[in-house]
Amino acid sequence: REAAREILESAARRDTNRLGVEAMGLLDAYGIPTPDGEIVDARADAVEAAERIVGASGEGDGDDADDDGDGEVVMKIVSPDILHKSDIGGVAVGVPPEEVGDTYEDLVTRARSYQPDATILGVQVQEMVDLDSGVETIAGMNRDPQFGPLVLFGLGGIFVEVLEDTTLRLAPVSEASAREMIDEIDAAPLLRGARGRDPVDEGSVVETIQRLSQLVTDFPAIVELDINPLVATPDGAQAVDVRLTID
Ligand code: ADP
Ligand code: MG
Repeated sequence: REAAREILESAARRDTNRLGVEAMGLLDAYGIPTPDGEIVDARADAVEAAERIVGASGEGDGDDADDDGDGEVVMKIVSPDILHKSDIGGVAVGVPPEEVGDTYEDLVTRARSYQPDATILGVQVQEMVDLDSGVETIAGMNRDPQFGPLVLFGLGGIFVEVLEDTTLRLAPVSEASAREMIDEIDAAPLLRGARGRDPVDEGSVVETIQRLSQLVTDFPAIVELDINPLVATPDGAQAVDVRLTID
C-alpha cells in the first residue's frame, strides 16, 4: 500500500494525471500479477533488459518457460501523451534479440513523428505472454459521480469496443460478486474451455477483480483505471497493459 502511494505521489510530482505502463508497480503492489518488464531510456539498456528478461524466463521460474518464443520480447512506447500505443505503432510484439536495438529507435521515432512535443518516458521491454492459450479480458474501474467506483470486467483486447461484452459492480467487490461478473459475460464459455480449449484459472481472475477493487477503494484519487488486456490463461491471470487517470 505504501509502494502504491509512492507511485501515485511521484506521478503527481511529474504533474501528470495520466499514467500508463509506468504504473505497473501499482498492480504489483496489490498482488496483481504482471509479466516481467522494465522501462529503459537508451538503446543499449533495451538490449540488456531483453537479455535479462529472456534469461530469467528461460531458467524457469515455475512458469511454463517452454512456451516463450525464441528469446522474443514485447516492446512498447511509454508516454503519458500516448495512451493507445498500438494505434500509433507503439507496440512491437515478438521482437527477436537482434532487433531489440533497432526497435527501440523505431518506437521512439514513431512517437516523435506522431507528436513532436510528446513526453517520452522511454520504452517498456516486456516478457511475451502466451495469448494462444489465454483469453484477453478487461478489468477496470470508472468512478461514477453518483454511484462511486464501478468495477468493470469483460472480454478485452481489440474486441472490447466492438462487442461491448462487459459487466459492472460497485466496489468493493466480494468474491461471490466477482464470480457472478464472470458468469454474466457472453464470453464466459470461452473462459471455461469452449471448443476443446483448456479452461482458464477462474480463481485468479476473481482474485484480480477483487484486488483491483481494493486498490481503487484505498485510493479515491484514482478516477479511472483499465487493465486491458488482462490475459487469463489456465495458469493464471496477468495484467499486460494498464492505464489510469488520477485527479
Ligand atoms: P495498447 O492498448 O496501448 O495499444 P497494449 O500493451 O495493450 O497496448 O498492447 C496491445 C496488444 O498487443 C495487446 O492487446 C496484446 O494483444 C498484445 N500484447 C501486448 N503486450 C503483450 C505481451 N507481453 N505478450 C503478448 N502480447 C502482447
Ligand atoms: Mg491495451
